[in-house]
Amino acid sequence: MSSSVEDAVYDKHLKELRELETKHNFIFPGSPTQKAGHTASNKFRSVIRQIPMLSLDSVDNYEGLLKFDERVKKILKTEEEVEYICEWKIDGLSISLIYRNHQLVQVSTRGNGTIGEDITFNKELIRNIPFSLKRVANCEVRGEVYMKKEEFARLNEELKKSGNKLLANPRNAASGSLRTLIPLQSRKLHFFAYQLFNSDLLTQSSCLKELEKLGFAVSPDHRVVRGIKKVGKFIEKQEKKREKLDFESDAMAYKFLASVASSQIKNIYVEVSRSGRITYVAELEPVILQGSKISKVTLHNYTFIANLKLNIGDEVVIKKAGDVIPQIIQIIKLNKNGIWLPPIDCPSCGSILKWNSTNIYQVCTNNDCPQKVVNYLTHFASKTGLDIKGVSEKIIKKFYENNLLSQPTDFYQLYLKEKQLLKLEGLKKKSINNILTSIEESKKKPFANLLTALGIPLLSSVKARKLTNFYPNLTSFLAAAKNEE
Ligand SMILES: [Zn+2]
Repeated sequence: MSSSVEDAVYDKHLKELRELETKHNFIFPGSPTQKAGHTASNKFRSVIRQIPMLSLDSVDNYEGLLKFDERVKKILKTEEEVEYICEWKIDGLSISLIYRNHQLVQVSTRGNGTIGEDITFNKELIRNIPFSLKRVANCEVRGEVYMKKEEFARLNEELKKSGNKLLANPRNAASGSLRTLIPLQSRKLHFFAYQLFNSDLLTQSSCLKELEKLGFAVSPDHRVVRGIKKVGKFIEKQEKKREKLDFESDAMAYKFLASVASSQIKNIYVEVSRSGRITYVAELEPVILQGSKISKVTLHNYTFIANLKLNIGDEVVIKKAGDVIPQIIQIIKLNKNGIWLPPIDCPSCGSILKWNSTNIYQVCTNNDCPQKVVNYLTHFASKTGLDIKGVSEKIIKKFYENNLLSQPTDFYQLYLKEKQLLKLEGLKKKSINNILTSIEESKKKPFANLLTALGIPLLSSVKARKLTNFYPNLTSFLAAAKNEE
């Protein structure tokens, strides 16, 4: 994230640019002044989500609806008629509400799905959301903020009287009202909830019921119907009601998740990183997603697992985040099997795991933990580190297990141990020679590579490079570090 100084400078330049554009009545192609709306702007604090907020795809004809049904059946691997829930698609702004200890603590926009904008300071404008929940302590509620038709008319009347520019439509009015830094207290917005996270509920209709019990408004006359033909009939009936609604709707939309697949969690296991941080991984029933086979997916941290009440045996819907890394976006609990419990011991060294300071993941604090050491040495030899060619994690593990390598400096003693190296299974003289040559070569790498190789927390390769602009070698670096003490 950029610093507040950079934000202030950016805002100043943006303001100047906007003034120039207004003055000359000319806007440069690709001008940043035109970029509000779909990406998180840097006017607001960013909110990073682990479960992205998706947008809806839509179909506008019956054939499209039938094709959608075919895809759903394929994902669910069923020939039987599927049960659908029909809700109005409200033409508003998608937002997320986070409750902690029964209190509403954060309101954010969808942004690009993964990164949204924090608009908590405007929560008072949304007239029908509870600021505290009695029944549930911690949860996330997602839904749509909209401006009622009558409120939109009233507002435009007011703007007209005061000689201001009129708002184009209720959607823009809702978005504009929420995305201002100075709350516009006289504006009234409303909210329909459609998604509830952190609950045991297995179906969307039971989620909507629970949301109503919690005090949220949900889409009026939503209904569960079996079979896509009945969905079509229901839409026809609802279309006639559209004009009479007090909110804008584009017509019904069918929740259509592009490029997603579903699979079952076969197992959950943990790995130890070089810093000792435990990462949680779900092993999946292999499934093809956008041309590649997915058999595991990261679960980020234990809070992620606990919030979703995830466990082995659950069915999950996965999507490729940024079209590369597969992520869980939805969970379908096949049974009430509770939450997967975290391990007590480190899978590598067996020592008792501790929790990090914010209690979201576990840590192995044993400095001699074999997997930590192997990962650290692998990082040291990696391309961003000292780029020692020919030593994979597997080879490093072999050296470690044969007491040839336990800390970075040992790499530079390996040439003295050629005889022992030659005794190792699966390593030919030629590859050993190559490794030793590459180790010798690594001494010539820039100082920034050495800094990166050392794996100092928070010091990325980019930062290491920047730092060496000021401290070009080890001597000046150490001298500076000493002066700081
Ligand atoms: Zn360990």
